[in-house]
Amino acid sequence: MMDLQLSRLPGLGPSRLQALDKAGVHTVRDLVMRLPVAYRDLTAPTPLSQARPGLECAVAARVAGEPTEQLAPRLRITRARICDATGEAVAVWYNQPWLKKQLHPGRELLLYGRFSLRRGELQMVSPVIERERGIVPVYKAVAGVPPRAMREATRAALEMGRGQWPDELPEGIRRRYGLCERNFALFNAHFPLSAEALASARRRIAFEELLLFQTALSLLRSDAREGVQMEFDDAQIENFWKLLSFPPTSAQRRALYEMARDLRATAPMARLLQGDVGSGKTAVAFGAMYLTWKSGLQAALMAPTEVLAQQHFQDAQALFAPLGARVGLLTGSLTKKQHAQAHEALAQGAWDMVVGTHALITEGVSYKNLGLVVTDEQHRFGVRQRTRLGQKGESPNVLVMSATPIPRTLSLIVYGDLDISILDELPPGRTPVQTRVVPEGRRRDMYGFVLQKVREGRQAYVVCPLVDKSEAVEARDAQELYEELRKLLPEARVALVHGRMKAAEKDARLEAFRRGDADILVSTTVVEVGVNVPNASVMVIENAERFGLAQLHQLRGRVGRGKYESWCFLVAEPTERLRLLTQTADGFRIAEKDMELRGPGELFGERQSGVPTLGLSMIAGDTQLLKLTHDEARALMKRPDDPQTRQIVALARREFLARLEDVALN
Ligand code: ADP
Ligand code: MG
Repeated sequence: MMDLQLSRLPGLGPSRLQALDKAGVHTVRDLVMRLPVAYRDLTAPTPLSQARPGLECAVAARVAGEPTEQLAPRLRITRARICDATGEAVAVWYNQPWLKKQLHPGRELLLYGRFSLRRGELQMVSPVIERERGIVPVYKAVAGVPPRAMREATRAALEMGRGQWPDELPEGIRRRYGLCERNFALFNAHFPLSAEALASARRRIAFEELLLFQTALSLLRSDAREGVQMEFDDAQIENFWKLLSFPPTSAQRRALYEMARDLRATAPMARLLQGDVGSGKTAVAFGAMYLTWKSGLQAALMAPTEVLAQQHFQDAQALFAPLGARVGLLTGSLTKKQHAQAHEALAQGAWDMVVGTHALITEGVSYKNLGLVVTDEQHRFGVRQRTRLGQKGESPNVLVMSATPIPRTLSLIVYGDLDISILDELPPGRTPVQTRVVPEGRRRDMYGFVLQKVREGRQAYVVCPLVDKSEAVEARDAQELYEELRKLLPEARVALVHGRMKAAEKDARLEAFRRGDADILVSTTVVEVGVNVPNASVMVIENAERFGLAQLHQLRGRVGRGKYESWCFLVAEPTERLRLLTQTADGFRIAEKDMELRGPGELFGERQSGVPTLGLSMIAGDTQLLKLTHDEARALMKRPDDPQTRQIVALARREFLARLEDVALN
């Protein structure tokens, strides 16, 4: 039943099927398991008299008068006056010319959208026209499948499988935690009968996923084999610190000490090193590599990009080559011959250390005596990478480094199979980025400041707001802002990048900005990190209220990389939440607060496959559930012969081990 092909569902023609296929939705089950990313509550529309800028809500209103159409470059704007018994407003749509015919005067509309104030007029911008009252699902967009078709197909899929989604959670567990039945949960997670039913559905789905995930993590841990044990004495740790041109922070000291303890133990090290950008993770990793080399074993350091690998390679060489260590580089861009030579050097032990990209763990690479593997900036948790490296012989020690601070409570659970070291201290001498919340009324002052910095020779980023997951709208907003800035600041050279551009064009513009050929870079958030421009000292973030705190903190980390005093402006009405950023540069505190406010699901991007994002997003702020499932997984693992445990372990293997394995292979 569940593996039925989607073509059996009404309303899905070949092109939509193809679009779904591309998005990874192949079966009826896939569709049902693709839960909404949000809901719209249309049960109680807001009276127009209560509408105010910034409010996102449903309204039930009538079209008052003929809609009008206005043409602008690349834009067709449709406007309709709407009114209800309490007041009136204007609804505006962009590039949806067919609407004009449908919006005949007097038509009753159920609209959902956000109000804003433009030129003194209260507008609902691009509202969705809904057909039914109730709580309706919003799915992550699939290009080529309109939202309504998505919703209807999902409804049909649920109907088709009605009563046939087997409930595999043992009855005992369901009862103990008061979890609703699975069919009920799936229906209500998509089309909730009430707010209570939705909450109960989400709790059930979250519980199941988190419990299985944590069970899978325990399984990984118990599968671990004997590790490579090292021998060195504490003096070596001191010797290493003396190699550096700076004294270590106490956080760095502590972290390396924790690693040294792991390396000398029989069980393989499996440790996560977390620390904000600039906290000095590389030095600690080099320390672990040094100890490995001193124990007569090989160490590998894997970076996510060629550029980073190059940089680490040069640093490692500068530090270790004078001591006699042989350091090699292995990346995908080497010639065939160089590859062969690198493989030879690793297999023969001619290299003591190697720095590289994923090429380090592809087929055909074998090591003489690999003792340590470090992966840097591990966005996708390579939870199982060590099994891949350790297929022959003993498991090497593994260190994973991450620059995304996440709250301790959460990391204990999500990285359940890793021990954690934290660098919660920046090296001395850094000046924190000055952060200010800028209300709309102070925008001109802010631009004046930006211009002044440009005149001083600095550069600035302007980041456009997140728009409900639509790249097209984001690109349009970025374009508008770009044009506005060119008009307002004619003496500055303004450049634009957005996610709709071809990769080559994006790269070229980023590179031009890096070279200093542009003063101000307007970009959407799609344009990800990776750019390092020490001369950039100002970051402006538009509609900052739409971002998570952790995300704002990450964006802010793009400035303050050089010797200049740096500034971050959050354009938004001041709130308690945003003010936190003006008060602290501590990524962990910020992440903690973010989790409290937005729930743990938001802390992870989609790139982090292998993480139970579904469960995490489902629990919203209810972090209690993390602890409950964590404890339940532990309790189950203590009773391996209990039928309940067997059932859960079987499910966890089926649902998660494969996924964790995938992570290692991509
Ligand atoms: P990240 O944690 O972001 O990977 P890096 O390891 O790249 O940080 O370190 C950032 C910079 O700080 C580097 O230039 C490094 O040499 C320097 N650094 C690291 N530790 C210290 C320290 N204890 N004192 C002074 N500078 C340090
Ligand atoms: Mg780093």
